[in-house]
Amino acid sequence: TAGLLKGKRGLIMGVANDKSIAWGIAQACHEQGAELAFTYQGEALGKRVMPLAAQVGSDLVIECDVTDGASIDATFETLGKSWATFDFIVHAIGFSDKNELRGRYLDTSAENFELTMNVSVFSFTAVLQRAEKFMPDGGAALTMTYYGAEKVMPHYNVMGIAKSALETSVKYLAMDLGPKNIRVNALSAGPIKTLAASGIGDFRYIMKWNELNSPLRRNVTQIEVGKSAMYLISDLSSGVTGECHHVDAGYHVVGMKAEDAPDI
Ligand code: NAD
Repeated sequence: TAGLLKGKRGLIMGVANDKSIAWGIAQACHEQGAELAFTYQGEALGKRVMPLAAQVGSDLVIECDVTDGASIDATFETLGKSWATFDFIVHAIGFSDKNELRGRYLDTSAENFELTMNVSVFSFTAVLQRAEKFMPDGGAALTMTYYGAEKVMPHYNVMGIAKSALETSVKYLAMDLGPKNIRVNALSAGPIKTLAASGIGDFRYIMKWNELNSPLRRNVTQIEVGKSAMYLISDLSSGVTGECHHVDAGYHVVGMKAEDAPDI
């Protein structure tokens, strides 16, 4: 390993299991020598996250429900007992009622709109409000987004609106934290089969569509997302902030793929 994150400490939020994008990022950071801490949502997921954390030499595994400000406070208080400072934070958290990740966006309820925005958008800001003082000499923050923020994708619905707001909050947070040398970026990943993704209608078909229509003619892997995330966390990207970096086999540049046109 090149040791690009040697001597650096990072908090990884959003591992649910070994398919999680956050786990791909954790592995890439561990490979480059980072020391890691993890948060998980609820007891049941804690039992899955602890053995994964152990695989990358971490026993700093803390519960955090981002819908609850007191829980976020408690998480950073607990973390503070082990770490006075850290260098990076990864936010790979999102949620929406799966009944609204199919059909029309128009039919979204006020309750789920608010919950989706709270968990998937505000939580990144809420976490950085607490993380700022842990990065007195600068640092890096990364969140996860999707192309459904930019263009209409089938079934993504309220999550698309949330990802748009998340991408815009990345820009505002980058401006606020830039003077402290804390960089804030987003990584826009192509579709990957995870627990969260399984809630999206016709997800298998969306993956197939991306495979057939992206410049690389395939989908991206959890490990590829992890490697690019590692770049955005490390000093390799020291001049990059407020950015939304696509790791999607190039899908976002395509208007229409050339085909043998039918006679019309
Ligand atoms: P995942 O299910 O493995 O991860 C989602 C995580 O969000 C879980 O760990 C879950 O515990 C956490 N979470 C949800 N509600 C929470 C709460 N109230 N408090 C704390 N944690 C909570 O799925 P994933 O695909 O790895 O998702 C990670 C991020 O990547 C999400 O923001 C997702 O939108 C984004 N993303 C996923 C894809 C994809 O195709 N899988 C593509 C682009 C972006």
